[in-house]
Amino acid sequence: MDVAYAPCYVLDVPEGHRFPMQKYALLKAQLLHEGVVEEGHFFTPGIMSEDTLLLAHDAEYWRRTRDGLWSRSEERRSGFPWSTTMVERERVIMQGTLECAERCLASGTVTMNIAGGTHHAYADRAEGFCILNDFAIASFHLLQKQIVKQVLIVDCDVHQGNGSALILADEPRVTTFSMHGASNYPLHKEQSDVDVPLLDGTSDEVYLHLLAEHLDRLIRDTCPDIVMYQCGVDILSTDKLGRLGVSMQGCAERDRMVFDACSTRDIPVVCAMGGGYSPDVNTVVQAHVNTFRAAQDAWT
Ligand SMILES: [Zn+2]
Repeated sequence: MDVAYAPCYVLDVPEGHRFPMQKYALLKAQLLHEGVVEEGHFFTPGIMSEDTLLLAHDAEYWRRTRDGLWSRSEERRSGFPWSTTMVERERVIMQGTLECAERCLASGTVTMNIAGGTHHAYADRAEGFCILNDFAIASFHLLQKQIVKQVLIVDCDVHQGNGSALILADEPRVTTFSMHGASNYPLHKEQSDVDVPLLDGTSDEVYLHLLAEHLDRLIRDTCPDIVMYQCGVDILSTDKLGRLGVSMQGCAERDRMVFDACSTRDIPVVCAMGGGYSPDVNTVVQAHVNTFRAAQDAWT
């Protein structure tokens, strides 16, 4: 199982920013410690070319992002203080997901990006810690190169994949599926191909039942050549931002369900981490480790 990881995933953000950057380095260390992944499975992605990221993004937005010309409100909405390092990091994350997608298609199995899942990024604006949209870029790239005919995005982060939904709205070869907290960020939801809004406090039982129901039908109806799985662990009941009532076991079962549904049908999966804001970073790391374990198990 190939895993994309670059040291720059861990960005030095000032105190007070909510995004727990350290989880990326901790996750890699924990995966090695538990023997889920070996050092040789990690690879360092390159930096995405401008031509590739422009497949999903507006040229003027990219120019202003690259050159540090964001307004104050744009910077605030992104969640990050602008820096050249931040922009470079984002390009490496994008390339990580793209290279993972190519690798999982080549091997017919699963690949993991220890970052990414930047589903709030729109074609022309940053939002909620997402500057560029990795699944949208990777989808357009694979379609343009005629590597795939159909893509299914399974977005199980607790926040709706609003950017992905809008960027891909007019692309019939990509199906966007988002299961998310109905009352959670973003306040204004876009329309995915399939949205499953969840009530605050949604339990394991309800969550998993809904997922099983939609997942099987979507795979059957769309016959995807690849599944892009956003496996955010902010669905946990312990999450500061999540509002759902899903347990650690429930979250692991969710991952197992997605991976099993794909592996039994020989559908390759690229997986990107998404959110996770439990107060104890070890909880976040453990939930992500469980995702890796589930992925390993499904393809062995
Ligand atoms: Zn999230």
